[in-house]
Amino acid sequence: MTIKQLRQKFLSGDMTPLEYMERILEIIREKEREINAFTHLDKTDTLLKEAEIWTRRYKSGEDLPPLAGIPVAIKDNIAVKDMPLTCASKILQEFISPYDATAVKKLKEAGAIIIGKTNLDEFAMGSTTEYSIFGPTHNPVDLERVPGGSSGGSAAAVAADMVPVALGSDTGGSVRQPASFTDTVGIKPSYGMVSRYGLVAFASSLDQIGVLARNVEDAVLVARVIAGKDRYDATSRELTVKGVLESLDTVDGIKIGVWKELNEHPAEEGIMTVWDEAIMKASKEFPMIPVSLPDIASGIASYYLIAPAEASANLARYDGVRYAWRVLDASTYKEMVKKTRTIGFGKEVKRRIMIGTFALSAGYQDAFYKKAVAMKYKIMKNFEEAFKQVDVILVPTSPKLPWKIGEKMAPSEVYKADLYTIPVNLAGLPAISIPAGYVDNLPVGIQVIGRYGEDEKVWAVADKLLSLWR
Ligand code: GLN
Repeated sequence: MTIKQLRQKFLSGDMTPLEYMERILEIIREKEREINAFTHLDKTDTLLKEAEIWTRRYKSGEDLPPLAGIPVAIKDNIAVKDMPLTCASKILQEFISPYDATAVKKLKEAGAIIIGKTNLDEFAMGSTTEYSIFGPTHNPVDLERVPGGSSGGSAAAVAADMVPVALGSDTGGSVRQPASFTDTVGIKPSYGMVSRYGLVAFASSLDQIGVLARNVEDAVLVARVIAGKDRYDATSRELTVKGVLESLDTVDGIKIGVWKELNEHPAEEGIMTVWDEAIMKASKEFPMIPVSLPDIASGIASYYLIAPAEASANLARYDGVRYAWRVLDASTYKEMVKKTRTIGFGKEVKRRIMIGTFALSAGYQDAFYKKAVAMKYKIMKNFEEAFKQVDVILVPTSPKLPWKIGEKMAPSEVYKADLYTIPVNLAGLPAISIPAGYVDNLPVGIQVIGRYGEDEKVWAVADKLLSLWR
């Protein structure tokens, strides 16, 4: 059932927002113990009361906003007033947000009921949702496996029917890769489409808030609601062109590009089979044109310098003074800061801060940071050239199927799994991951990538492709 259909039911009285909320809470009660998607749930009384208010308003026949009475979950690195904002980190474990992120404010204005906060890798650094003070989130598709990350809690909540839609954040793939791992849809907007105000900064030049849902229509509906220029984020822009409840564009005349060098950087065998079949099916509806993106594979090296460099600056603010938690057994200011950061940050976060600090230090900037930025421009140029021939480009979302929780992998191995998602962030482009098939019951996602600002076109093509692949 889509949100639009749900709204229809609310309007006709077939189901009330209150009944729907009761159902959702029942599912959460049943499944949350084994999935661990949430870091915080709002009080049952509060949620039921809100749903009851919407039930009454639907009955009154008044004009209601597009998400009236729809429950939404929010990744725990996005601010919701009076709810914890932990980033799954010890250093923020007692922090309660005093304000709403702009995206959250817009959701509330559109009538959404924010039911709680979802699990993530600490400060959104990771690909598994295992690096969290709340423990790992389990993939509803297979409980022994990771749901992907870092927005794994949001993806799992959506996949387990605990909530129809959830917000995540995508700096290097953190919305699209979990979508791929949980058989859901994940939108990463063009850089600037959604305000970052209230999203805890990881790598500001790459961060975007995105949406996870079970179908393209719902994800688009929510993306349109949260989009728009915002005076609190100077990098935000007006990029959606449609009204929220309008249908998607036609896909007439669209040319699809297929990444030519994929064979040089192939995904696991099963994924390649799903990929080939998906391309075949798509070719019945669209002209499919091979396009070259020769420098994509350098994205990883570039990203894993730029992102830590920005993170090392952004995370300097957690010093035990400005926010929440600090150690008490320190006799000087310096000792307090040092101990707080040593104990407060997890291993992966500290690794990134050290890489970033090193890459930015005097004498090393030219050798590392500037080279990484030069590579980013090269990748942008790759896309620019390719988009002269086609409207959108297909690339698998992940080279790996969801792996087992606790599987020991070197950090560099995990980083390599971001091969296909990272270039999109470096170039600031819009992309969406949609389900394309299965390998031994494990889901495989494929990304549709578009020109900057052409999010609407990407979504329309994705909707059509999903209908061919499902
Ligand atoms: N896996 C990537 C990383 O660890 C992406 C994270 C993200 O998009 N937030 O940095």
